[in-house]
Amino acid sequence: MIRASSLVGILVCLAAFGSKGFSAENLTRLSSHSFGKLSDGREVTAFVLKNTSGMSVQILDLGGVITNLWVPDSSGIIADVTTGFEYPLPYAEGAGYMGAIVGRYANRISEGTFSVDGVSYSLAKNNGNNAIHGGLAGFDKKIWDAEYSVGQYDAELIFSTFSPDGEEGYPGRVEVSVTYTLNDQNQLIIDYSATSDKATIINLTNHAYFNLDGHDAGSILEHEVMLNADRFTPIDESSIPTGVISNVAGTPFDFRQSKAIGLDIESEHPQIIFGSGFDHNFVINHSELGVVSLAAEVYSRNSGRVMKVYTDQPGVQFYTGNFLSGELIGKDGAVYERRAAFCLETQHFPDSPNKPMFPSTILRPGDRFASRTIFEFLTDQML
Ligand code: BGC
Repeated sequence: MIRASSLVGILVCLAAFGSKGFSAENLTRLSSHSFGKLSDGREVTAFVLKNTSGMSVQILDLGGVITNLWVPDSSGIIADVTTGFEYPLPYAEGAGYMGAIVGRYANRISEGTFSVDGVSYSLAKNNGNNAIHGGLAGFDKKIWDAEYSVGQYDAELIFSTFSPDGEEGYPGRVEVSVTYTLNDQNQLIIDYSATSDKATIINLTNHAYFNLDGHDAGSILEHEVMLNADRFTPIDESSIPTGVISNVAGTPFDFRQSKAIGLDIESEHPQIIFGSGFDHNFVINHSELGVVSLAAEVYSRNSGRVMKVYTDQPGVQFYTGNFLSGELIGKDGAVYERRAAFCLETQHFPDSPNKPMFPSTILRPGDRFASRTIFEFLTDQML
């Protein structure tokens, strides 16, 4: 493993290894460059991982943010399928958590309070009366330490950092690492790991927004989505789960057979109204708890691109970019309008610390939170 501090400007090339697609000979699987500076002068580094099958991904040490994700379509045309920015500032200011690692607790906690072992803790209310996505300066705002390693068929970028006891109101000093791996099967694998020196809560995700036709291609309403979920967790008007777990059958939330996002998004169903569209946690049908299984499959007929999402987490937040408003100007001057991109945030259920009926998110000293999510890219010609 190599410390990334010694990497800036150095290209990591692979020796000649036979492979399909692009020649692996001279393939630069991992490189880095400056992404600019934050207002306090700190330098942000961008890492670019490439494979032999035409994919590449750019990731920052700031928030572990995925800024670009280039994926081939059925005719080999490569497009950048994730929204993002060309400078660090929008990420440092929040910007819808685009592409970022979210923690310590991804998604919402009701009224920003929770208890562990009878001790109550309070968090900043940064989403109406609730807490969301780790607080005012969560994992998405940290500059992570980076290391990397390059293998015969993949490249890995290993981020690590810590969160001091009491940071953002959460108990315990948490050591956390997130490894991004890009392999030649067009899989972007994200491995999360965390430990704590006190009982605490943890829920980690990546908040990438996707548009399989290209980040600046406009509406995602024609994308077809399959969610491997018989059930979801309905919310109240402030997007906090009620605690009930409902069947999707006969509701707009039934994505068990693939359907266009736009088909039911304007339904009068109260849950659609509460979410301003789809912004709900789906309970993934796991054959075995804690085993990586298919959570979602998304297809765009326009480009023929397919994305499959696998995870060992119990839930996935399907969010259809309802609160994108055209205010965010992204890469190449792209304007991200409402529903120009969607998220599939693999996670534990929102507000689990206040919902004893949901799988526990408590992390105790001596235990390790470990989790894997895979974003896999294919085309309809491969299915
Ligand atoms: C939430 C949305 C929110 C978005 C950006 C998603 O995880 O479910 O309601 O607008 O993150 O914060």
